[in-house]
Amino acid sequence: MTTTYHLSCDCGNTTLTAHGAPEATLYCHCGSCRALYGTVMLAGTAWRDDRVEPPASDQVIDYRMSDRDMRRFVCKTCGVTVYGRHRPGMPVIPHSLFRKANGGELPAELAPTLHLFYRDRVLDVADDLPKSEGGELMGM
Ligand SMILES: [Zn+2]
Ligand SMILES: [Zn+2]
Repeated sequence: MTTTYHLSCDCGNTTLTAHGAPEATLYCHCGSCRALYGTVMLAGTAWRDDRVEPPASDQVIDYRMSDRDMRRFVCKTCGVTVYGRHRPGMPVIPHSLFRKANGGELPAELAPTLHLFYRDRVLDVADDLPKSEGGELMGM
């Protein structure tokens, strides 16, 4: 049986659906993720394109970074980020959406498995997860 995640922004006007399992669930410390999401690290999941049904394009603002090919899609009513595209074919959905859909808890099967670009961090994290200094643990 395939897991289906029904996700939404805070106001509920923007919804997206993810099927099955992500390619990765992780923390990313790279400068691009920090800039794109405005946070000290991204906590998120990366998916195969054909496993995600994105929101209707007229429901979202398509924010594009000015200096690199990275995009973030925001509910145009409430302003919550619902997903990003860091490169073609790989939607990235923040853990926060899965928590919201699951009573505040991250579903156990989506627990992060590693830190990516840890050398670029602005905050140390004292956990036991593998820490990839760059992208090598993801084959990047
Ligand atoms: Zn909304
Ligand atoms: Zn990153």
